[in-house]
Amino acid sequence: MADRRPERLAALRERLAAEGLGAMVVAHAANVRYLTGFSGSSALLLVAESAAVLLTDSRYETQAAEEVGDLARVQIAPAALIDALLALLPESGAREPIGFEAHVLTVREASCLTEGARPGRFRPAGELVERLRVVKAPEEIAALRDAAGVAGAALARAVADIRVGLSELEVAALLEAALRREGSVAHPFPTIVASGPRAALPHARTSARRVGAGEWLLLDFGAEVGGYCADVTRTYVVGAPPDPRQREVYAVVLGAQAAALAGMRAGMTGKAADALARDPIEAAGYGAAFGHSLGHGLGLEVHEAPRVSKASDEALPAGAVVTVEPGVYLPGWGGVRIEDDVVLGDTGAALFTMIPRELVVLG
Ligand code: ZN
Ligand code: ZN
Repeated sequence: MADRRPERLAALRERLAAEGLGAMVVAHAANVRYLTGFSGSSALLLVAESAAVLLTDSRYETQAAEEVGDLARVQIAPAALIDALLALLPESGAREPIGFEAHVLTVREASCLTEGARPGRFRPAGELVERLRVVKAPEEIAALRDAAGVAGAALARAVADIRVGLSELEVAALLEAALRREGSVAHPFPTIVASGPRAALPHARTSARRVGAGEWLLLDFGAEVGGYCADVTRTYVVGAPPDPRQREVYAVVLGAQAAALAGMRAGMTGKAADALARDPIEAAGYGAAFGHSLGHGLGLEVHEAPRVSKASDEALPAGAVVTVEPGVYLPGWGGVRIEDDVVLGDTGAALFTMIPRELVVLG
């Protein structure tokens, strides 16, 4: 597999030059992983013009050496990473001003850098690495497709055992075990299982509530393969045929998602893509019940750029991978969300998730 790390570092250095920065301190774990391959949870990466230094702690000594190789010098910090960073700066060759990820560092860490420093030595930098991550390379697209495949296979395994009377936690256990068996190395976010009226909570916390006959069962879950995430939602009815209102709301959400899947393509703004699903939901009278955005970027993180939102006037680039997840939530009654993962191209969106989308009765 092609090693993209040198070209990613080169792309970051180009951005730094364009921003008038001589070097940058990268702190966000997903950004560090993207640039160096290091998958630990705690590191600071100094990217200077001709060298890169990865600072981590002793827990990761072996792992960092293996994952980073000779791409960057790996240094184990004896105490706080930020103090070790300040200590190594003089001999690092890092030119000033040095950018830092103001959206990631704690206030304490940022003030360690800036307090007492010469004015202009450090400068908050924008989400420079996050922007590089938006357009996926072929290997990243393959990993995202694999993660979606794992999610789909796990769901198929789990739903075969779902019955009336299981608790949400028991359903989550079935799904999470199936995800592990299918090869997911982590749950990128806490699995959401919401039954009956709780399906109206878009980010419900899975509970001990037992699913009753004819009730909604909403499952929103992730998978992770090679560091890359899937994010999938399906909403089912359990143990009895859906009633007319359930059919109606489901059809509205399914139709809105189908319109978005058919109409989305690279070059569209986030707002225009969001409208593909929002317009039919509003036309059906449920606009107020669709409070969140149509989707979000997906990659090393389960929520990343770009936004597929009515608040975004930025064009969605070709090679971005995003979720498409319209929903309708009616407090006290329940809700429906259908979420799939796609890669955007100039002529349309290609689905990663091959999971039936029609309304299915489980059990
Ligand atoms: Zn989700
Ligand atoms: Zn999502």
